[in-house]
Amino acid sequence: MNSPIYLDYAATTPVAPEVVQAMLPYLTLYGLFANPASIQHSPGIAVENVIRQARSNMAQLLNCSSDDVIFTSGATEANNLAIKGIVLAHPVGKHIITSTIEHKSVLDTCKFLEAQGYIVTYVRPDNQGRLRLETILEAITEQTILVSIMHVNNETGMIQDIAQIAQALKDKPIYFHVDAAQSAGKLSINLSELPVDLLSLSAHKFYGPKGVGCLFIRNRKRQRLIPLFHGGGQEFGLRPGTLPVHQIIGMVTAFELAHTRLTEDYLHSQQLRELLNKQLTILGEVKLNGDASAALPNIVNLSFSGVSADALIIALRDQVALSSGSACNSGAIEASHVLRSMNIEGDRLYEAIRLSFGRYTRIIDIQLAATILCDTVRQLRHLALE
Ligand code: PMP
Repeated sequence: MNSPIYLDYAATTPVAPEVVQAMLPYLTLYGLFANPASIQHSPGIAVENVIRQARSNMAQLLNCSSDDVIFTSGATEANNLAIKGIVLAHPVGKHIITSTIEHKSVLDTCKFLEAQGYIVTYVRPDNQGRLRLETILEAITEQTILVSIMHVNNETGMIQDIAQIAQALKDKPIYFHVDAAQSAGKLSINLSELPVDLLSLSAHKFYGPKGVGCLFIRNRKRQRLIPLFHGGGQEFGLRPGTLPVHQIIGMVTAFELAHTRLTEDYLHSQQLRELLNKQLTILGEVKLNGDASAALPNIVNLSFSGVSADALIIALRDQVALSSGSACNSGAIEASHVLRSMNIEGDRLYEAIRLSFGRYTRIIDIQLAATILCDTVRQLRHLALE
């Protein structure tokens, strides 16, 4: 049996072959496998230099200081460190603003803080999944210490205007954190022009390995942040633990590659989305959840009237790999909190599937997947009528 056509790039991407090659020299006996904290010997010093260079390359691509980049295990950890790290270090402000469409790693962190006595305002998007600046500004109180808003939504691809929010918050005594897990490597992020205070990203969303990411902390040396872990002094004491050198090299290489291919990858996704939409509209009764004009082209969220997402995903399982929302939620038959917040109700909520694609998705993959999808939707609609 052929493996299914993979249309779940928003859950994770395959690692680019160039990235795998770049990681290999940091693993084995004749490579640079030493611990970068072992600076008593030359192999350790050599690896410490490799990490310094990697941090500097990452910072250069983000246009920030390399002192402000902390390596983490991914965006979940970076989001936790940003949010808990800031608010627990500032016991005065007890109010946080975030949105109802954030990833669970932000929402559950906020819930944890609510249990500790913090007050959280969850702002809602409009019906297309767009957050309005006014709603965020209206939620601000004298107690507000942090605003956390995602750049691109993982279920709909909707892009938030983080530059506008950052500008509006710039002169207020409020930290602004951005979860850029879905945008990093796909949209250019220039931190010298974008006045955010904290930004999280994750390598496995841009063709790097799983289990590595980073947190940008503006003027890190002057910020107070409580670490999540305690141990050695790695990552300036903010993220102790032996650094996964090969993972970090993988992330930096993948990020470099994503930057050289930024336009090419974007246009490719745009072409695939157009093709997909063209083939699927023939079906009729297909509703787009979100607004294509304000979304990344690699994520398409659709509801097929009369066909439950669960039935469709099961029917397609061996042919097309897709998701009914965020991978962290799948398994549980629970309607998407993102779509619910967009006032999507009734059957449409349970009919929503997410198709996401990327660099290695070929035109033929989309054509074939769309044909299979159309056939399966027709069959399921027909069965429902019997
Ligand atoms: N935020 C968003 C928007 C995401 O899509 C994801 C991954 N699903 C995460 C955070 C968590 O990232 P990681 O898998 O690196 O922990």
